[in-house]
Amino acid sequence: MTSVTGHHYIGRFAPSPTGDLHQGSVLAALASWLDARAHGGRWLVRIEDVDQPRSIPGAAQRILHQLAALGLEPDETPVWQSARSPLYRAALDRLIDAGPAYPCACSRRDIERVWAARGIAAQRHEELVYPGTCRDTRPTRATRAWRFRLPAAATVEWMDRRIGAQRQDVAAMVGDFVLLRADALWAYQLAVVVDDAEQGVTHVVRGEDLADNTPRQILLQSALGLPRPSYLHTALVLGPDGNKLSKQNGARSIDTDSPLAVLNAAAGLLGLAAQQGSVGQALLAWVRQWSALYNLTR
Ligand code: GLU
Repeated sequence: MTSVTGHHYIGRFAPSPTGDLHQGSVLAALASWLDARAHGGRWLVRIEDVDQPRSIPGAAQRILHQLAALGLEPDETPVWQSARSPLYRAALDRLIDAGPAYPCACSRRDIERVWAARGIAAQRHEELVYPGTCRDTRPTRATRAWRFRLPAAATVEWMDRRIGAQRQDVAAMVGDFVLLRADALWAYQLAVVVDDAEQGVTHVVRGEDLADNTPRQILLQSALGLPRPSYLHTALVLGPDGNKLSKQNGARSIDTDSPLAVLNAAAGLLGLAAQQGSVGQALLAWVRQWSALYNLTR
């Protein structure tokens, strides 16, 4: 596959700077780096600071230093989503002009009320399926958000390189989803689709917690006429409570004084054998193992 920028493989690691790298985010970084190297491709780092209120000052720089300490250096200067609003604006305008984006005046409370009237209670923290209130009638109240109108056929099938054939009925699982949030921030779904295409990303390698988002991203790619990258979702590092490891359940920053130990722990979870010696030698050995694991020939 040759991307618009002429490279046959462009991969990326896209951390949100909400804290330092921890054992879970290192897994995604290492896996995406190994896949890029095993393909003889390029590896980019994109700082996903589109959610400014959740971004922690200085975290992005620390992440970049931590990656360097692990021997994972991007092939290009990292891009920052906070500097790319005009690209997201242009994509939203295209979706508004073409029809699939529409203004929505509903608050979370409004959405809960619609479901409550149908006898369905929302779990706390649960993202509710959008009931389509503003879909066909222009809201008379102020616009809070812009949503993506799902196409009539919204069951998406896709093939993941690790977890295999996937299928999601996006209408039943999510409904018309948000592109520009009520707090005027760009939604992750739109930013990631626009950026992956604009950067010529051909292969997405990231944690399995994001696999549920892939169908929404595929629908957006189709609506915007953008190519669909190939996807590989890695296993997750679990925290002590059995959920995905995160700052909330005790993930600690990695110890960059022992990079090989950090990398060995991540490599083990990726099904690769522990290495001794230098970080450089270990990474080389893992590139070969990764190629064998995923049947890659150069
Ligand atoms: N920024 C997202 C995260 O840190 C990753 C997005 C992606 O890889 O598509 O969870």
